[in-house]
Amino acid sequence: MAKIIIFSGAGISAESGISTFRDSDGLWENNKIEDICMAGCLDWNYQETIDFYDNRREDIEKKEANYAHKELKKFVEKYPHDVKLITQNIDNMFEKAGCKDVLHLHGFLPEILCESCEFKDNIGYEKLQEAYNACPECHNKLRPNVVFFGEAAPKYEELYSELNDCEVFVVIGTSGNVINTDMFLSRAIKLSILNNLEPSDAINDELYSKVLYKKATEAIDEIIVDIESFLEGN
Ligand code: NAD
Repeated sequence: MAKIIIFSGAGISAESGISTFRDSDGLWENNKIEDICMAGCLDWNYQETIDFYDNRREDIEKKEANYAHKELKKFVEKYPHDVKLITQNIDNMFEKAGCKDVLHLHGFLPEILCESCEFKDNIGYEKLQEAYNACPECHNKLRPNVVFFGEAAPKYEELYSELNDCEVFVVIGTSGNVINTDMFLSRAIKLSILNNLEPSDAINDELYSKVLYKKATEAIDEIIVDIESFLEGN
């Protein structure tokens, strides 16, 4: 299990040009959250929901990993057994930076999933209905492999298991409204770093060893230096 967890949210991809929830005041790319990412959307609003994620998938094709993703890739390569990248993001910016084995808690945009059986496929940047009419195995409807609000998130189990041995917990670019990172700060964690653009009502920044309110691309060097100093002293 990882000793160091880098836990990210939409903010880490903001400088790649991918909008966060917060930037858009409860809207995501001009859509109401309840229309396109709530449990049940695929029942009453199937086509609009599919189109929304097709557009997001198309959008990330043009986006590039930023300095924070790239530096984290180098950091993981330096300490492959100690660092785990865990993200709430569904984009592929870490993968574009060359990262492998990223834990995507809320799904992964390039993937589609069958609503009924286990069928899953990576369709890259294609539109879902151009890639498949229906599930090739059971002929049921396909959906983006994205966890909507109100749905079970199967990857949370892996998150909790990674947290078991964690000593360094770094939070980058999340408001804490979907997952409250404060609750992960157990006594076993010896160094905790919070990096956001500004304080969030959902996060108690007094709980963290260090707080950096600045862009992730401007904070990442300092974050890595701090973790490496911690590792040297331990
Ligand atoms: P959020 O939108 O609620 O909060 C974004 C946070 O990032 C804020 O605290 C803000 O201060 C910070 N931030 C903004 N720009 C930053 C920058 N340049 N550097 C550092 N921090 C910056 O995002 P969330 O907490 O991740 O929750 C949103 C949910 O929506 C997640 O579950 C995620 O799955 C989903 N989402 C994903 C993407 C994506 O995949 N890129 C984009 C939007 C939403």
